[in-house]
Amino acid sequence: MPTATRTNPLSFLTEQLDELKAKGTHFKLRVLEDEQAPVCTFDGKRVINLASNNYLGFTTHPKLREAALAATRKYGVGSGAVRTIAGTMKIHMELEEKIARFKNVEACVVFQSGFTANAGTVSSFLGKDDFIVSDELNHASIIDGCRLSRAKILVFRHKDVAHAEEQLASVKNQPGKKLLISDGVFSMDGDIGPLPGLCEAAEKYGAIMMVDDAHSSGVLGRQGRGTIDHFSMHGRVDIQVGTLSKAIGALGGYVCGTRDLIDFLYHRARPFLFSTSHPPSVAATCIAAFDVLETEPQWMEQLWANTRFWKKELGLLGFNIGGQTTPASETPITPIIIGDGRLTMDFSRELFKEGVLGTGIASPTVPEGKARIRTIMTATHTKEELQRALEVLQRVGKKMGILG
Ligand SMILES: *Cc1c(COP(=O)(O)O)cnc(C)c1O
Repeated sequence: MPTATRTNPLSFLTEQLDELKAKGTHFKLRVLEDEQAPVCTFDGKRVINLASNNYLGFTTHPKLREAALAATRKYGVGSGAVRTIAGTMKIHMELEEKIARFKNVEACVVFQSGFTANAGTVSSFLGKDDFIVSDELNHASIIDGCRLSRAKILVFRHKDVAHAEEQLASVKNQPGKKLLISDGVFSMDGDIGPLPGLCEAAEKYGAIMMVDDAHSSGVLGRQGRGTIDHFSMHGRVDIQVGTLSKAIGALGGYVCGTRDLIDFLYHRARPFLFSTSHPPSVAATCIAAFDVLETEPQWMEQLWANTRFWKKELGLLGFNIGGQTTPASETPITPIIIGDGRLTMDFSRELFKEGVLGTGIASPTVPEGKARIRTIMTATHTKEELQRALEVLQRVGKKMGILG
């Protein structure tokens, strides 16, 4: 092959990456060298970790670790097939039954991730004659699911129930199915979706109600049952999605609802049908995690104590943690809004040099001009670690002119 004369058909990628570099928003992946923990080593540097979704410290909980090891010894490392062929192990069924009981619903199906749970579910039961009414800040996996379904997408302003109702009203005489869909907790701002109002709107217009509780499972509601429990909306949300990858500490996503919904997804959700199921260790880890949620309330209590302390102290330092033009966070996610994308990325790099990992998030993940450092509290950060992190944030913030 005359490789010397072949032009690179992917050279446009280099150009686009150069554009990111010019804008200051190009990043390298930070590599974790030890466990996912409140203090850990990224790229050879010890840092206080304010960036993980490990809300309850479950990534290293001894009972979960032991469950994973025991399942690996007993059942091996892989499931060997997709669920519908030969890859449904007893332990997968046990996990689904456990989650269904925990969430107080008829049935549950576990997917490989929260992303595939959302994308696979929305696209399975809607088609081009149907309508989806969706919060403008819903997670990317919901948006992709909506697009895959080919249904018509009507976006409503963030948390604006009246606007959602307007959108539902605008298609009420159309024959297609209607789906109203919202995140339970929004991942970039940490605010909670207005479930009571949305459920009322869905009921008024006969729409299917769906909530993605990825950031609220293990965080909100009794023993971490999520926003539906937090608002006492049991029986009014037709489709509940959750993740096993955040507070639960392992990997996976799930959908909860009626037995028929779950049976339908078994037959029609493409990631369920065409992608291999979890290794038994993952299912065992998640079963143990739900046991721990029910028996060790101290993790959630500590998570919320740390969250209250962190929000109060960040506010006292003078950082913009949302509230005026950006929703104020009501959860362990606290954004430090900087605005400019380049300044945000520089701030994040400088914090890292000083021993604090706070991920910078810029456009297109958040709107232009709303770039931020997103901090996430966990139950296992100590007071001393948080105080050290605050000291670094203050010092670097002043040096860079972010704090007055
Ligand atoms: C993280 C997240 C997901 C994806 O969950 P994974 O299990 O990581 O794939 C879905 N929805 C929301 C709102 C999320 O924050």
